[in-house]
Amino acid sequence: MEWIHHAACIGTDPELFFPVSSEGPGARQREEAKQVCAGCPVRQQCLEWALESRQRAGIWGGLDERERAALGRRRANRLRSAGGVAR
Ligand code: SF4
Repeated sequence: MEWIHHAACIGTDPELFFPVSSEGPGARQREEAKQVCAGCPVRQQCLEWALESRQRAGIWGGLDERERAALGRRRANRLRSAGGVAR
């Protein structure tokens, strides 16, 4: 994970990336975390790592858990449509 050394979130409170709720202060926290990710030079690597390691909670690569799950399903469907094997 060499890429982690270039992360925009270095020095940021890690709790920012793990909102306790999806509403109210939690929603604002989620958006604030996503803004940090939006300017991150290793966003794609972070997202791929989160998908591969099946991170269930938190904001990784600018996506929250629901968005990552949706992306995973889209990729699996594309792979199945192309005749590949989806895990
Ligand atoms: S994409 Fe977001 S969570 Fe991932 S390394 Fe960058 S700032 Fe941190």
